[in-house]
Amino acid sequence: MSNHIPFVDLKAQYQGIREEIDAAVSAVISETAFIGGKYVKQFEEGFAAAYGVSHVVSCANGTDSLYIIMKALGIGPGDEVITVANSWISSSETISQTGARPAFVDIDPVYWSMDENLLEAAINPATKAVIAVHLQGQMVHIERIAEICAAKGIHLIEDCAQSHFSTFKGKKAGLFGVAGSFSFYPGKNLGAYGDAGALITNDGALAERCRMFANHGALVKHQHKIEGINSRLDGIQAAVLSVKLKYIANWTAQRQAAAAWYNEALAGIDGIVLPVVRPETEHTFHLYMIRAQRREALMEHLRNEGIDTAIHYPTPLPLMEAYQYLGKTAADFPVSAGMMNEILSLPMYPELSREAIARVAAAIRSFYAN
Ligand SMILES: *Cc1c(COP(=O)(O)O)cnc(C)c1O
Repeated sequence: MSNHIPFVDLKAQYQGIREEIDAAVSAVISETAFIGGKYVKQFEEGFAAAYGVSHVVSCANGTDSLYIIMKALGIGPGDEVITVANSWISSSETISQTGARPAFVDIDPVYWSMDENLLEAAINPATKAVIAVHLQGQMVHIERIAEICAAKGIHLIEDCAQSHFSTFKGKKAGLFGVAGSFSFYPGKNLGAYGDAGALITNDGALAERCRMFANHGALVKHQHKIEGINSRLDGIQAAVLSVKLKYIANWTAQRQAAAAWYNEALAGIDGIVLPVVRPETEHTFHLYMIRAQRREALMEHLRNEGIDTAIHYPTPLPLMEAYQYLGKTAADFPVSAGMMNEILSLPMYPELSREAIARVAAAIRSFYAN
């Protein structure tokens, strides 16, 4: 369909950087630098410089990076780790993978991310860490959360899979806690052409433990100090990421412009609530999420107009079948549970045109006019 507006458009992005990407990929292949090596090192150094952090440890994906951080911190059986009720399951399944127990706090009704006011009460003697998730590209109140973690003597880990280069009072996501975890899944703001991830930290000893654990427990070949896992970044993915890193600032600005156009075009429609950017933060709009009454019917109306949408996420994590054993109900997470049938993510990608946004807005306006 020629008038189709996809949810994300990775082809449009590739068209803009095709020659550079093709050259980068073919260099990796002709040098057979498939695993580790020059291209991985280059990307780690480039990302560290762009982020202003001393250590970047690349790995296979953004789920592993969370797991690696927790294992390197010694989190395991008997421990508890707190995360947020509305996130992707990586934020909690990795807690269980260490042998620890996940616990959840609700989101707040304004910014739709971990409610910092609920955190303190959720901490108990078993709590070893908090995984704060900057969902959608929106920063949580990371300053307050960091204060609480420091006062309680527990680790703060940031899940930055949706918030590359988001800032809180000018400081980037991932630099507030002991380590930040990143996904470079293709659809993320900085995306590879396959699975990829990394963690960042200013703690050199932690970085070394992470690197060792991700590499079968060895820093030097055949010298396994511990048992680890195999979680590596491929050379091809690293080369793609190094090319894309040059453009991320522009792409972020384009996402922010698209969000501003949405705000303007969607203003004053009865039936929807627009996203509110937390004061003193920079939102990088991985997602442009709204709350919409009669969401299922709206989604169908948009689909009929050739407009794709998505839901992030349809069910709060603690209410999933996987966490039935925790015995939680919707009453334990009233904000998440109350919003789960209303949240809707509209098309969002750097190349999204103002005309396309006007079309999405017109379709939403016509839906609520009836
Ligand atoms: C994408 C994502 C992850 C996991 O990243 P993968 O690279 O797909 O493993 C973790 N947390 C959040 C919030 C995400 O959006």
